[in-house]
Amino acid sequence: MGADKTTIFLFSTTHCPLPTFKGNDMPKAHIVVVEDEPAIRRGLSDALRLSGYEVTEAPDGMAGLREAGAAGVDLVLLDIMLPKKDGLEVLLELRRTNPTRPVILLTARGSEDDRVRGLKMGADDYVVKPFSAKELIARVEALLRRTMRPTVEVRLVTVGLGTIDLNRREIRWPEGIRSDLSETEAALLKYLVSNRERAVSREELLSRVWGIGTAGLETRAVDMHVARLRAKLKSPDGGDDQPEAIVTVRAHGYMAGPALGVDG
Ligand code: CA
Repeated sequence: MGADKTTIFLFSTTHCPLPTFKGNDMPKAHIVVVEDEPAIRRGLSDALRLSGYEVTEAPDGMAGLREAGAAGVDLVLLDIMLPKKDGLEVLLELRRTNPTRPVILLTARGSEDDRVRGLKMGADDYVVKPFSAKELIARVEALLRRTMRPTVEVRLVTVGLGTIDLNRREIRWPEGIRSDLSETEAALLKYLVSNRERAVSREELLSRVWGIGTAGLETRAVDMHVARLRAKLKSPDGGDDQPEAIVTVRAHGYMAGPALGVDG
């Protein structure tokens, strides 16, 4: 297996950036490297470890899918041309169980179709071989900055004149009217409010609110819970023209609506 040209200037360690993760309060991120070419895989892993990351290596698509889908993984570097299962198949299957796990594709020059398909299938970014350690690590850091933001714990949410206490799973309306939320409804609301700047897909809700291993549970279940939650978020003395608490985003999912406010 001759070291192909790409590996030669792939990781000249003199160009490795200084670790930027150490010394701040970010947790050590766990990265899975799925790459069948041993020299590239080792080069990638060494460069990432030097930059302070925890790395797991996978030499083929089957092992890659298993490692990439494991708990606690923060980012996946995924080669497309892989034995046993190609990278796009791995991505497709990973997206069913982990819709939001960050993935950067490692692609060959000239395989533009693969890149486009990969991005459409939910890859977050790609790098074209040959790439330098510096470029790759910059992409990894940029993606982790986007995805590892510490989540602010939301407890109190307002809806019109009502206040929702997510910890107590209770909605308090004026004049002492109260109603309860189920555990799932509270978790659903919390997730939508915590991600209020974007629309969230039904698949993501299934994975994040109901947890991984949702085989058998259909996205229709999400719709039913949203419908029940919406009904509970309507002010008991309001009319039909109240602002929406949960907005349906066509062909995608749901989003926290204008009626919801975060109160601490
Ligand atoms: Ca390959």
